[in-house]
Amino acid sequence: MTNNLTTRGFAEQLDQQDELRKYKEEFYTRSDVLYMDGNSLGLLSKRAEKSLLTLLESWKEFGIDGWVRGEHPWFYFSEKLGELCAPLVGAKPEEVILTGSTTSNLHQLLATFYKPAKGRTKILADELNFPSDLYAIKSQISLRGLDPSEHLILVKSLDGHTLIEDNLIEMMRDDVAVIVLPSILYRSGQMLDLEKLTKAAHERGIIIGFDLCHSIGAIPHSLHDLGVDFAFWCNYKHLNGGPGTVAGLYVHEKHFGKTPGLLGWFGSDKTKQFDLSIEMTSSSTVGAYQLGTPHVLSLAPLYGSLELFNEVGIQKVREKSLKLTNYMMSLIDDELGQYGFSYGNPKDESRGGHIYLVHEEAARICKALKHEGVIPDFRAPNGIRLAPVALYSSFLDVWETVQRLKTIMHEGKYKKFENERDVIA
Ligand SMILES: *Cc1c(COP(=O)(O)O)cnc(C)c1O
Repeated sequence: MTNNLTTRGFAEQLDQQDELRKYKEEFYTRSDVLYMDGNSLGLLSKRAEKSLLTLLESWKEFGIDGWVRGEHPWFYFSEKLGELCAPLVGAKPEEVILTGSTTSNLHQLLATFYKPAKGRTKILADELNFPSDLYAIKSQISLRGLDPSEHLILVKSLDGHTLIEDNLIEMMRDDVAVIVLPSILYRSGQMLDLEKLTKAAHERGIIIGFDLCHSIGAIPHSLHDLGVDFAFWCNYKHLNGGPGTVAGLYVHEKHFGKTPGLLGWFGSDKTKQFDLSIEMTSSSTVGAYQLGTPHVLSLAPLYGSLELFNEVGIQKVREKSLKLTNYMMSLIDDELGQYGFSYGNPKDESRGGHIYLVHEEAARICKALKHEGVIPDFRAPNGIRLAPVALYSSFLDVWETVQRLKTIMHEGKYKKFENERDVIA
């Protein structure tokens, strides 16, 4: 047993002790590529591939009868997947539906929960949130005939990377109707204290919802027990549902019976939907928030993926993820100290599933990493996100990544590239 952390042998020992290591074989990983971008687009698992093929088969075999026949009848598939996803967000099965996209689900939720009235007309969010969320919020404010520059309150970050819960709570004033915050910030990976924020919002009579894009499949949640009003997320990042896979939406059961802001026939009570009545009877559960015909083929990979997560258990995923990022930071501290990197992510356990390195040459360091077979994620202006993923990254992958980064810095290999982002970064 060597205790020298920086050796390859130490990484191999960590892999031997890792009870999740067999799951790497469940994924399509490439031996020549170190994939550190699972927080942007997760890799394909064999089970996700299989469930997609099963759904294609059902189309082949049953034609229109696939809506009610086959292994996964399409008519009930979104609800079924919602049930499978519920343990990951800590919700009751009937509180989760897989539908829409992150952005369209936020529109639906604001159309429902943002009812400016009697001095409560504002939406509270933060300036570090993903821009699409802020665009959606602004358009919802405009749709009410209000001015977004007056009615959207953006809490500022003091360091450009993180938020302080007490600052957010201070801004929860009497004129705030709804709060929309991320559970994990997409750049710095900071994890917010959902319990503290939800409690504070409710004490002040404010509805609160969270964007779980970077936390679903990375950390456990307990939305129901915390009483979180609503949440929404995409399933192509840590959840490995594939490019553009269908997103998730949660509404606490205390709000069941409320009429969704946007109606469509797939939000109907299933037994009444095909009455095709001009009077809609909404589903009594979160299913009511659906709009039109589900994107069945884009839902399909999620069945296999969720099966995998439920088999492993999100607690174990989180434990390994923390070990991986911890190990990565220790290696970076030991091996890259002299090259001018700093951390934008919290170093303690209030971080999510990735680390965020700050460097003024970040854009071209990322290009050099790709050239050397490491897939990172550049975030303008100067951030490098690295996400070793519990289900398919090994400790040796982390060790290799840091070695390659060290060579790039030591030999100045990044200088061959321009310090600008590509179209997709
Ligand atoms: C990835 C991400 C989105 C993406 O929204 P889509 O509608 O799925 O394109 C939104 N919000 C956050 C915080 C994200 O990280």
